[in-house]
Amino acid sequence: MTAIALENDLSRLPPAVRRWLDRKPAHFIDGAWHAASAAMTVADPSSGREIAEIGKGAAPEIDMAVSAARAALAAPEWRDAGPVAREALLHRLAALIEARADDLAVLDCIDNGMPLWLARAVNVGGTVDVFRYYAGWPTKLAGRTVEVSAPPGVGRFQGMTRREPVGVIAAIVPWNVPLMMAAWKLAPALAAGCTVVLKPSEEASLSALALAELIEEAGFPAGVVNVVTGLGREAGDALVRHPGIDKISFTGSTATGRAIAREAGSSLKKLTLELGGKSPTILFADADLDAAIMGAANAIFLNSGQVCVAGSRLYIEDKVYDQVVERLGAHIRSIPVGAGLSEGVFMGPLVSGRQRERVTAYLDAARAGGMGVEEAADYAGTSGFYVAPTLVTGAAHDDPITQEEIFGPVLGIYRFEGEDDLLDAANGTEFGLAASLWTRNVDRVHRLSSALQCGKVTVNAGGFPYPGLPEGGYKGSGFGRDLGPDAVEQCLQTKTLLVHIS
Ligand code: NAD
Repeated sequence: MTAIALENDLSRLPPAVRRWLDRKPAHFIDGAWHAASAAMTVADPSSGREIAEIGKGAAPEIDMAVSAARAALAAPEWRDAGPVAREALLHRLAALIEARADDLAVLDCIDNGMPLWLARAVNVGGTVDVFRYYAGWPTKLAGRTVEVSAPPGVGRFQGMTRREPVGVIAAIVPWNVPLMMAAWKLAPALAAGCTVVLKPSEEASLSALALAELIEEAGFPAGVVNVVTGLGREAGDALVRHPGIDKISFTGSTATGRAIAREAGSSLKKLTLELGGKSPTILFADADLDAAIMGAANAIFLNSGQVCVAGSRLYIEDKVYDQVVERLGAHIRSIPVGAGLSEGVFMGPLVSGRQRERVTAYLDAARAGGMGVEEAADYAGTSGFYVAPTLVTGAAHDDPITQEEIFGPVLGIYRFEGEDDLLDAANGTEFGLAASLWTRNVDRVHRLSSALQCGKVTVNAGGFPYPGLPEGGYKGSGFGRDLGPDAVEQCLQTKTLLVHIS
């Protein structure tokens, strides 16, 4: 096997990617590019080297973008376009993304650090699928007619409901799957006839800007989609507080979600929150162990653990505990780690130096607390933001390793004997995003999948998002859903019409 490079070779980038990197920092507002008044740098996580500059937007740019989105919401080009036209635009956008899929995948690979295969198959492939799925929705959205019994002597009435767009949506997304996270917000909003101001993460904004170009090319009216880049505490905060916003659709950490919920509570903006997770993988002795061990490893090491539904806690039935831990130890040493553009890479670096420090602080604390910390390799001294696939054994239930979202390639491993103890442990965090079960016992599948307090349970397989199936959390993992019919529903509001028939 040829050695895997730890740093991306950027000397032979596709011309479109080079153009996106060399673009002057700008925001996409009201269908035009506005030069940014302040800028911030973008680093390639495999080397830490600067590769681009993006705009550091704040309140003035957000104000322009919200005004443009409000005007577009009321303009006949969008308001009266009708469902067939919205479907056609969404299909055109999906086709444009598909045509540029290879370039978009390279862009997110060098911006976020993810391996190219993952960027292409999940991040960009998933984006195309999501726009196609929601392209089918506008012509299926409908209100109801309702037979009405009026009070005596008042006359005859006809009742109806209309489904109307909620208005201007503030879409705020994280960096872990940059293009796809933006698509999960934009596609249902546009299907519902809303307009959007998108604030991508400061850690990975390049593909959102590239997407804005394609939105323009697809022919969406000016102001329907606006993209402002910037810091969460500046651009994000200004967007959340702006009185011109009708709904906030946020994906990110539980801490930020809480702050946004406080603001939405006082201004009464509508809100959906897709927040963090600490999802359990539960492995019973009767499972297909080969598949379960691979599944448990992929659930945490895919995208370097920077996945909201990452299976960061592994509960192993006592009878097979030693065997599974030994095999996982061998497996982590075989995982190809390296720069996303290198051939054969399974796992890349983390998104930023800050994220690497966060993750390694958890490992240092675990070591200091006497836990078993098994790292597959040592990347100290490399300039990229690498953390090796790591197993942690011996953590107590209330240790931070067990309770807090680490968002890195760190798997906490626990032993269990009976289902009752298991459920207490598995449900015993503030989160409730997802769980996966590995067992051949069908009764147990149904018993546990209803008892697990989370938004998604995957059985005998690695999970993946599917546009028609909702994703979202119970408890501290948020409320509302991305994907599926739920997401478009949440971009609509109901108006009741009561008509007197004379
Ligand atoms: P984050 O909360 O730090 O940032 C998310 C977004 O919010 C960014 O665009 C950021 O700029 C913005 N932001 C930060 N502070 C803000 C503020 N005060 N006001 C307004 N906006 C603000 O999260 P992150 O580190 O970018 O992403 C990782 C987190 O996202 C993890 O917790 C992960 O579980 C979560 N996530 C959840 C899902 C899901 O579907 N539930 C999916 C992906 C990621």
